[in-house]
Amino acid sequence: DFTPSGRTLFQLLEDTANRFPQRTALHFLGQNTSYKELVKRVKRFARALQRSGVKPGDRVAIMLPNCPQFVVSFYGTLLAGGVVANTSPLYTPSELEHQLIDSGSETLVILDSMYPRYAEIADRVPVKRVFVTRIQDELPFPKNLLYPIKAMREGTLASDSFKRDPKAVPLRFVLKLQDADPVPVTVGADDVALLQYTGGTTGVPKGAMLTQRNLVANAEQSRAWMVGLQEGREITLAAIPFFHVYGMTTAMNMSVLIGATIVLVPNARDIKMVLGEISRTRATLLPGVPTLYNAINNHPDTAAHDLTTIRACISGSAPLMQETARAFREITHGANLVEGYGLTESSPVTHVNPITGEQKDGSIGLPLPGVDALVMDDAGQPVPTGEVGELWVAGPMVMKGYWNMPEETAKVLREYAGKTWLLTGDMATMDEQGFFRIVDRKKELIIAGGHNIYPREVEEALTAHPAVLEAAAVGVPDAYRGESVHAVVALKPGMQATEKEIIAHCRQLLSPYKAPRSVEFRDELPKTAVGKTLRRQLAAEARERLE
Ligand code: ATP
Repeated sequence: DFTPSGRTLFQLLEDTANRFPQRTALHFLGQNTSYKELVKRVKRFARALQRSGVKPGDRVAIMLPNCPQFVVSFYGTLLAGGVVANTSPLYTPSELEHQLIDSGSETLVILDSMYPRYAEIADRVPVKRVFVTRIQDELPFPKNLLYPIKAMREGTLASDSFKRDPKAVPLRFVLKLQDADPVPVTVGADDVALLQYTGGTTGVPKGAMLTQRNLVANAEQSRAWMVGLQEGREITLAAIPFFHVYGMTTAMNMSVLIGATIVLVPNARDIKMVLGEISRTRATLLPGVPTLYNAINNHPDTAAHDLTTIRACISGSAPLMQETARAFREITHGANLVEGYGLTESSPVTHVNPITGEQKDGSIGLPLPGVDALVMDDAGQPVPTGEVGELWVAGPMVMKGYWNMPEETAKVLREYAGKTWLLTGDMATMDEQGFFRIVDRKKELIIAGGHNIYPREVEEALTAHPAVLEAAAVGVPDAYRGESVHAVVALKPGMQATEKEIIAHCRQLLSPYKAPRSVEFRDELPKTAVGKTLRRQLAAEARERLE
């Protein structure tokens, strides 16, 4: 049984700060911020927003990597009654333009090195005020400067071009100037807290409206799953980005709820830094995505680091290949790396394998406390146990709807048996014990000669080949079969394999119609900001070549 507390996100933070005031909330490149200090800064930012004219319900776009300023502006916006519009730091100017216009954000919080991308589109978006921050604002010694900036992935150096923009002010000055507490505003559990744009794996991102209740419930549901967790004692390595709902809930909000120290890593692809921070801080929790665990497993520095303090990891957002999980458990001497599942529209976690007791490889586990889940046919009726259908979920974590898209909302939210259900767009099965498996996305099904082929099954076979690091299977047009399976693979460093060998290997594991007909080699597969393989892009490129 699970009842969400109905608190707001800021109350969650404040409650933790009252229980553990001196506990380190944030650890960033050697610099610590206590929970008490964090609340103080959050209040200052809320006050700064109010002074600059932000009203309850106004959207505040946050375009930052994982750093203390992210946490401060996130909770500060909510305290002022604003709605956070999470913005990917990887957005191109035109993607940023789309989101700023769509969300109607009049306020933007941005890192200096990302500012030039905003500047390109500044006169086409509704932004009226920009708070610019620099990574080094949070560091005591300028000597530390170079590394974090290099770590910002895109290699852009700090930029001060914002100094010529009358709308832009340095966040640092603004925070210093605030002396009073923010003016209290009423924030209810059912108010929208966040516009969270979907990952854009299958199409244009849509803004999911997530309420205070949705987000707090999901942090509490995830916490209820974490049997054996010690309040005020855990250390979360936050490498997965907070601008994506998965990192925001599992690495940030859940950590705040349990009084964990959050070790902030601004760039999840910097495995050197991830490894260094885990062993230096003796991190205990590492929420992540399969790409992250895979990268750790295959990094040359891994053997030189002690990763044995890691106890629990939820892997979400994409299928966890069994080989990845096995290798990671070995490296960490038995960390509990369990697969979970979720989507933006459900704040996001809905399923996780049990942390104690039986876990099933290849399964997303059981619904979290307070989550109802069904496997349904196209006519909207439950399918028999073990059969494939679309996964529907209900519970306090399900979004209010998509922002400004009533037709899209109507397609995915449906009343059934007295509850509002979210149609996930994922095909799944449930077994006798109630464990769910994701078969694949409904949209990415390959239909070859009348057979339904789920790319994931083919990808499992491909990654079981010893030379394959990662793989994607996509459908390409085929004159006889309608579609046929095309594989794109990246090989492990220093390993070799031919197209013929890979096809032969798949034929040993799969029925002939599922085995790829062609294989393409790449150094790396294209991915979304959270590391999901962009099958859509690979399929389009393969199709183009065939034409
Ligand atoms: P868009 O909706 O814009 O196409 P997206 O699907 O990547 O992008 P997200 O909300 O970020 O949007 O991702 C949710 C999806 O990720 C799920 O619907 C599912 O397809 C996939 N997913 C999440 N966890 C798992 C998992 N453990 N196994 C398989 N797929 C998963």
